[in-house]
Amino acid sequence: MSFSLKPYNTFGLDVKARDGMVVRDFAMFPAAFDKIRKSSAGFIVLGHGSDVLFKGDYDGAVIVNRLMGVEFSEDANTHYVKAQAGETFHDLVALTMKKGIYGLENLALIPGTVGGAPVQNIGAYGVSLSDFCRYVEVLDLVTGKVDRIMGRDCGFGYRDSIFRIPENQARYIITAVELAIPKDWKPETSYAALRSRNLESPKEIFDFVCSMRKIKLPDPRVLGNAGSFFRNPVVSRETLAVIQKSFDNVPHYPAEGDPDMVKLAAGWLIDQAGCRGINLGTAGTYENQALVLVNYGGATPEDIVNAARHVQGRVEDAFGVRLDPEVRIYGEKGECQL
Ligand code: NAP
Repeated sequence: MSFSLKPYNTFGLDVKARDGMVVRDFAMFPAAFDKIRKSSAGFIVLGHGSDVLFKGDYDGAVIVNRLMGVEFSEDANTHYVKAQAGETFHDLVALTMKKGIYGLENLALIPGTVGGAPVQNIGAYGVSLSDFCRYVEVLDLVTGKVDRIMGRDCGFGYRDSIFRIPENQARYIITAVELAIPKDWKPETSYAALRSRNLESPKEIFDFVCSMRKIKLPDPRVLGNAGSFFRNPVVSRETLAVIQKSFDNVPHYPAEGDPDMVKLAAGWLIDQAGCRGINLGTAGTYENQALVLVNYGGATPEDIVNAARHVQGRVEDAFGVRLDPEVRIYGEKGECQL
């Protein structure tokens, strides 16, 4: 194991990969492909590693995507913003704001890179990347060519896309994303946190979202974490009714695309199960946001896994609801279960 992943996972875990390299421009890809070809356990592409948990050393190759650059163009109704995959997503949001291009403000301070954004279709406060994604540019390892996958073909769903499917992870390296942002700006303030504050301008929304995020998401340089660790569970209305018998105030929202299902707030469930701010030694949950698992210092992968399983167990005991990880989990041979 020769490639340290410590700088490339925001949990700050001291793990290694068999091999790896940082790709800063297209000319470096042949050397990266060489490493991929020699790897018997496949490869992983990382941006900031803000959405991954390594359960230990990884026996494959890691490509750290640091392709940089942003281009702007426009037509009568739309701004087009093409960003290379290694750009920090928040920097892109801030840059568009500075240029008077509005629409991304609800997505401020979501951790990670532009290349990671379509993989889980990042979203916040009622806005998702898929609302703006014109296409994702990929290096297709099957054809050996650079290709464009249009937004409508990306299989975007709730924190989901075709890029989460294992065959596609082994096939595509995301190199850039182009966003189409309508010039006709409309605020998205339907979430209670925004609605209750009478935010009127993009700048007000941006500033408010930034301030909320700074409270709820610990800085990984201080406390290692991977943002929201679990997905919000989607359950049947019958399950909701059972929970409401004991917790009549359980927050619930319509599930996308299925009127018979509802989305619960994982952070609320964890909090009510008594797991907000717990510290099991070196790992636990954040005091300001129970959904965030944290490395309180010196945690091993096993400590994070144990904390995650502890939270899962407590929520299942209290509500009969299973929490599934939103972060991608990797073991010695590649993506795996918690
Ligand atoms: P919050 O405002 O305390 O709300 C808790 C949960 O309830 C959220 O997860 C949200 O679901 C859901 N919710 C609240 N109002 C809703 C509405 N009007 N319609 C549908 N669902 C509603 O959440 P928070 O933890 O502070 O996070 C704020 C936002 O940042 C959320 O949208 C969250 O998803 C987002 N976030 C995204 C990432 C990421 O993309 N990786 C990481 C951290 C936080 P949704 O999660 O479906 O919005």
